Amino acid sequence: METATLAFVFAYGAIIGSFLNVCIARLPEGRSIVRPPSHCPKCQSPIAWYDNVPILSYLWLAGRCRTCRVRISPLYPAVEILTGALAVALFLRLGPTLAFAGYFAFAAALVVITFIDLDHQIIPDVISLPGIALGLAFSLVSPLVGPRDAILGVLAGGGTLLAVAWLYKTLRGQEGMGGGDIKLLAMIGAFLGWQSIFVTLFVGSVIGSIIGVIVMLYEGADTKLAIPFGPFLAGGALVYLFFGDRILAFYFGV
Ligand SMILES: [Zn+2]
Repeated sequence: METATLAFVFAYGAIIGSFLNVCIARLPEGRSIVRPPSHCPKCQSPIAWYDNVPILSYLWLAGRCRTCRVRISPLYPAVEILTGALAVALFLRLGPTLAFAGYFAFAAALVVITFIDLDHQIIPDVISLPGIALGLAFSLVSPLVGPRDAILGVLAGGGTLLAVAWLYKTLRGQEGMGGGDIKLLAMIGAFLGWQSIFVTLFVGSVIGSIIGVIVMLYEGADTKLAIPFGPFLAGGALVYLFFGDRILAFYFGV
């Protein structure tokens, strides 16, 4: 594929990533994602368009507000780079198709959920519930997952974690799994089909365990630090999206 095309796709992804930053900052606080226009969280001065260019503005402002010089979080350009990279990866796999549009929307939702969950330990229903509906609707046109697999995906995704949550509560007498994780895995099932649930849970748990051990080594084994599960489910879903066919073929010879 031509480099110019891929550069364009990356720029498109980075611009969407810039919008995702607004969602990540504002959705957990219940603020509008359209109004007011971007402004510095410290000095409130509005951000001009030339200081709001994805990735590049962060570089030429050297990571600081033009007016009050407060530091801008490096997570902003990181989300823009990540979203741009996801757009390129999906475009290389799916080309300029409806499938690209659908799965890029899915990946964008996962990015927003990941960073909100890391920051606030919540997964907003305003993303996961419409995500389930959108995934089911998308299955009517998706070349990868049909409506039957998508409906079974919602049931398998939601049902599996609901059962785990119930079991944990019964055995330990306390809540171990958030309702947000249940709805997130249902959304993943809607977009990727029931076949994705096992791989997503498995990969998510493996990555989660590794990170958990690292955190425990740094913070002490009795750490009360809450590690959200959402980002690992999102990571597992992306691994399935890109490598699922190969993983399933490897294990089941299908
Ligand atoms: Zn400022």
